[in-house]
Amino acid sequence: MPIILENVDYIYQPGSPYEVKALQNINLVINEGEFVGLIGHTGSGKSTLVQHLNGLLKPTKGRVIVDDQEIAATKKTNLKEVRKKVGLVFQYPEHQLFEETVFEDIAFGPKNLGLSATEIKKRVKKAMQMVHLDYDKYHSLSPFTLSGGEKRRVAIAGVLAMEPKYLVLDEPTAGLDPRGRDEILAQIEELHNQGMTVVLVSHSMDDVARLTKRLIVMHHSAVVYDDETRKVFSHYESLQEIGLDIPTVTKLMFRLKEKGWSVRQDVLTVEEAKEEILLALKEEKPHA
Ligand code: ADP
Ligand code: MG
Repeated sequence: MPIILENVDYIYQPGSPYEVKALQNINLVINEGEFVGLIGHTGSGKSTLVQHLNGLLKPTKGRVIVDDQEIAATKKTNLKEVRKKVGLVFQYPEHQLFEETVFEDIAFGPKNLGLSATEIKKRVKKAMQMVHLDYDKYHSLSPFTLSGGEKRRVAIAGVLAMEPKYLVLDEPTAGLDPRGRDEILAQIEELHNQGMTVVLVSHSMDDVARLTKRLIVMHHSAVVYDDETRKVFSHYESLQEIGLDIPTVTKLMFRLKEKGWSVRQDVLTVEEAKEEILLALKEEKPHA
């Protein structure tokens, strides 16, 4: 069963002079098994949108349906059930690490579910394995002694320990060095390959091009594209107009085409670009 957003509006501080309409008539379906990217410049409404997926924010208007649970302004919903299903990793999640040990931090959510000590330990171990943190080495350390990438992985493990069906990550690589970034992305990809439904908010066009099949683009509180990633990036000019770029290799293909090369422009990865360029070189007739 999917997550559905129907005619969702969200207004911060409604009726006050600081009122902000952060979401405007959002209609979306996130299906099980998908890997969906979400992009848009700062302030376009991405974080507000993803906080609706697990009921952290309730729509001002419209409704969100998570499997069989409906979330709407006037409705009482069992949000605990929703949050068990939809794991949300915030931007800079390490700011929410506050326990004395890595174990305690990851165990925080499962403890709130009222699970037994044995089950909690099992879940912590499994979640740490999923983000490649060695249990024996890390479980008794203070989270504050860890590197940026390791802290981020502890935070993600805390969400995974809830065994969610959907994993929503709000810019999980922000502020990490290239190595930390690559590790986190590889782990997210692995989780998806094992069947996890993933929604990834990202600033990196290269990352969403490589990882996602479907891409949602937000601009001024609304969804402006929701399509196959490849198709979305064919709108180079419109994306530029709303302050977004396209992946590096896609841009390279646009440039080559401008210079008269006969290459496809809907290329998303380095591998695809290589194939296209080799093909174009082969076809090119040698000059007399
Ligand atoms: P993004 O994640 O794409 O940068 P946000 O969802 O954070 O966008 O923000 C969308 C709009 O809502 C922006 O105009 C932002 O300033 C505003 N906003 C976000 N959080 C709050 C808040 N807690 N109170 C008031 N306005 C907010
Ligand atoms: Mg944000």
